[in-house]
Amino acid sequence: MIIKHGYIALPGEKSFLPLDIEIEDSKIVRTGSNLSGKDIFDAEGLLIFPGAIDPHVHFNDPGYTEREDFTHGSRTAASGGVTTVIDMPCTSIPPVTTLKNFHKKLDAVRNKSVVDFAFFGGVSGQCFENDPDKNISELAPHVLGFKTYFISGMDTFRRLTFEQFTHVLKSTAKVKRPVLLHAEDYDTVTRYEATEREKGSDWQNFYASRPEEAELIAVKHAVDLAQAAKGSLHIVHIGTAEAAEYLAGKPFVTGETCPHYLEFSREDFEEIGGALKTTPVVKSPGNGEKLWKHLMTGILDFVASDHAPAPASQKNTGSAWTDYSGIPGTGTLFPYLYSEGLVRRKMPLDRFLKVIAENAAKRYGLFDRKGSIEPGKDADLILLDPDKTTRIRGKEFYSKGKITPFEGLTFEGKIMKTLLRGHIIYDADKGITVPPGTGHFLRKG
Ligand SMILES: [Zn+2]
Repeated sequence: MIIKHGYIALPGEKSFLPLDIEIEDSKIVRTGSNLSGKDIFDAEGLLIFPGAIDPHVHFNDPGYTEREDFTHGSRTAASGGVTTVIDMPCTSIPPVTTLKNFHKKLDAVRNKSVVDFAFFGGVSGQCFENDPDKNISELAPHVLGFKTYFISGMDTFRRLTFEQFTHVLKSTAKVKRPVLLHAEDYDTVTRYEATEREKGSDWQNFYASRPEEAELIAVKHAVDLAQAAKGSLHIVHIGTAEAAEYLAGKPFVTGETCPHYLEFSREDFEEIGGALKTTPVVKSPGNGEKLWKHLMTGILDFVASDHAPAPASQKNTGSAWTDYSGIPGTGTLFPYLYSEGLVRRKMPLDRFLKVIAENAAKRYGLFDRKGSIEPGKDADLILLDPDKTTRIRGKEFYSKGKITPFEGLTFEGKIMKTLLRGHIIYDADKGITVPPGTGHFLRKG
């Protein structure tokens, strides 16, 4: 197939180029002018991006599938231009902490996804009741990294002490996989939470229990421990701009943020309430623009959705303490970043491409197949009409989660088609066009 008349986003370029793309057997063969062939696809007026990578989703499968499963999660990803997701180990049951559990999860989801997918393994407090090193080395060939927590709301996946975390940094370095960390300080949050729970159960009480200070302390501590242990560390969902600054110039340390931290603040939480409840919580007004700067300058490496929806019965419980913490996001990740980053904030195109796909692909060992439009790579593409707009309506999500803080917002641009390995998997007019199971499981290249 030859895709003609589009404007393509090639890695390292500052502007879109009017070039054709030749695809054969699911791969990009070449890009160039006036390519000819039998099967022509006319992309007149469309911008063509590499498929986005969402390196942080909770599809909860098998396990909490009343919140999300791989079929719904991957469909909503495809509709938002995401062609590769990396799923977290902690919200499926059993958690992916052993080789046996890994196989259970892969067996359960293998025939469900419409986008390509990979897994993170995890190391929880429970893992230290057995031999964590054995599980790490057995899991390593199948996972792209190991998720850990300094604070956890899950009984099935407990937090690590600093000593255990250091142990994991050393053990995972031996198998050449990064450690991913939820970085909020346990002691700080526990102290604030005790006080706030006495005061009440409103959003203000929950908000005050997760101060920026908790993130600052945890990030600083984790980075220092990683440097000392010569480990490879990635901090997930950084909300506090000042915490991100601590990553600057540290070798083998990377960080991600999420659209909700870029877009929303405490004032929005006051208005929107539970639909914006996440952990970490959104931060003070002005913090989001600082995070945008860190994305532009490279202090932050990429953006992930932390997609973690829940049904209304779990999102609106009557108490801010028990409302489910998490929001759907993989379907709005790329549309948001295109509109608010590339268009409205004029993020340079080459930087935008790093943020939406390239850097995550490199960080997790997928760059041989994914992350950019280059000959030899999978033909994962987004075809976007820059003259149209996208209005966000939760009830139209393919996800099981319909409650979104982005409800009613209008983004520049509209995704017309998403291609996975050369095949259309989403079409703006027809919807999802492929059956569950189209997506492949990915290991590190
Ligand atoms: Zn998460």
